[in-house]
Amino acid sequence: MTTSVPPSRPSREEAEEAVRVLLSWAGEDPQREGLLDTPSRVVRSYDEFFEGYQINPEELLARTFSEVEDYDEIVLLRDIRIESHCEHHMVPIIGRAHVAYLPRRRVVGISKLARVVDAYSRRFQIQERLTAQIANTINTVLEPYGTAVIIEAGHQCMTTRGVHRPGVSMVTSRMLGVFRENSDTRRELLSMLNRPALGDQFT
Ligand SMILES: [Zn+2]
Repeated sequence: MTTSVPPSRPSREEAEEAVRVLLSWAGEDPQREGLLDTPSRVVRSYDEFFEGYQINPEELLARTFSEVEDYDEIVLLRDIRIESHCEHHMVPIIGRAHVAYLPRRRVVGISKLARVVDAYSRRFQIQERLTAQIANTINTVLEPYGTAVIIEAGHQCMTTRGVHRPGVSMVTSRMLGVFRENSDTRRELLSMLNRPALGDQFT
């Protein structure tokens, strides 16, 4: 679950050349004025879309707070925006994640949970693995009583090509520890998720 770096990373120039090849393949003239800067823009976009490969998600969770009195209830961060890319078609997966854990002594800053989601989202993914990686990392590093991750997302490889099914979303979940073993805890999580959102006055 560490960051995986390809064995030989091409140069930026080689990456830009690959974009020119794809432009030509699509039927374009990469030398056309409007497209001259496109390869460098695309490669810079890739720096952002796939910055997750440069991040070690486990390190994000290294700093925890142990003085949480006797807080022993579910911590839930919901509606975390997901921006990922399907590894089969290299097109966006857009959705949201809900991340919950039941702390055992240690809690982590909530922004760190969102950053773990980003660290795994900003890679080529399939939704099932993305869901499992987020849950497994939280569960391994924080050692809580349980971890739950639910992701709901739309896949552009399904909405804009192939079967063309806009509006279809895919839901995946990974339940570990008490969320898997204890149906009361799982039910409590689901009822927390079903509550209406706070609305703008709190956000
Ligand atoms: Zn796909």
